[in-house]
Amino acid sequence: KKILVVFGTRPEAIKMAPLVKELQKTNEFNTKVCVTAQHREMLDQVLSFFKITPDYDLDLMKANQSLNELSSRILTAIDLVLSEFQPNLVLVHGDTSTSSMVALAAFHKGIKVGHVEAGLRTYNKFAPFPEEINRQITGRIADIHFAPTQQSAQNLLNEKVNEQDIHVTGNTVIDALLWGIKHVNEDREDINEIKQFVDTSKKIIVVTGHRRENFGNKFYEFCNALKQLADRDDVQIIYPVHLNPNVQKAVYDTLGNHKNILLIAPLDYEAFIWLLNQSYLIITDSGGVQEEAPSLKKPVLVTREVTERQEAVLEGTVKLVGTNQEKIIKEAVVLLDNMNAYNTMIGNINPYGDGTAAVQIVNALKSI
Ligand code: UDP
Repeated sequence: KKILVVFGTRPEAIKMAPLVKELQKTNEFNTKVCVTAQHREMLDQVLSFFKITPDYDLDLMKANQSLNELSSRILTAIDLVLSEFQPNLVLVHGDTSTSSMVALAAFHKGIKVGHVEAGLRTYNKFAPFPEEINRQITGRIADIHFAPTQQSAQNLLNEKVNEQDIHVTGNTVIDALLWGIKHVNEDREDINEIKQFVDTSKKIIVVTGHRRENFGNKFYEFCNALKQLADRDDVQIIYPVHLNPNVQKAVYDTLGNHKNILLIAPLDYEAFIWLLNQSYLIITDSGGVQEEAPSLKKPVLVTREVTERQEAVLEGTVKLVGTNQEKIIKEAVVLLDNMNAYNTMIGNINPYGDGTAAVQIVNALKSI
């Protein structure tokens, strides 16, 4: 059986890496890897960390390309790869333009599609935009669905997907994290730069933020909340700032030159998971960070109004706080000052699995 694994962004690469490695361990499949390189540098550092060499590199990143231009270029470029390799199955991940367009191209050619991280939903087509529609398109096309949790499987059942086509496996992000944290090289330049800033007597808050739904005023509110938190003397904030200009402007306008805030470029995955491990608390709108942080026993405040990761909210490993300045501050202060609340949160079990998702997916593929 020939399997083509396709991905294009940083989070997809992180989450597909454990699966690629697991597929390559078995000689039951002829596995090839294709990257669209929807992200370039952010993708390459993940490939290098996990030692994955793509068989096909479509190299499609271009500055300021619209989603439509990117989508049409993905369709055209993947068509040639599908014709050449003629896989029996294409595996895509999550909710990007790469996922939806590659699934569509495979469908047009009569090739089966497997969807990893299937069934996440907000049912709000603008939040997150364009991810919700990307994953719904991919889900409609897919023949096999690897759902991280029962709840995501239930979403698919509600959409009339056949039960036998759904496998609940946990999320491969945990597999990647548990492998990754054991392989961090602490001697990296970026890690040393952070070490020089960190005061170990203080509580480190790690921040990330990049969702399009939060751009504009909401982003300024979020930054103002961070500024107020950084005025406390027992806190240091470390914020790898996403390169999107909407994010950069709000962050540097509001948070530049604060003695308790370190603004840095986005970190390589290796350095980032090291940083997460040093933190006391995480404030983020990232999907992946919400899933991985609880496995390091770190509490997460999520700066979004809606979430497709309800199981984390229900389990209590994350708290949805929106972008209202007062609300963010209030919830952060609870976790900074109330050790009972803090310990309860980090004591909860991560609903996204135990690091065996890739093995479970490969076992399911063997039985098909
Ligand atoms: N991440 C990283 N460097 C950073 C920020 C995040 O490597 O500076 C990793 C993080 O560990 C997680 C993934 O990128 O696994 C999340 O990606 P992102 O927040 O871009 O996307 P989302 O998960 O929201 O789709």
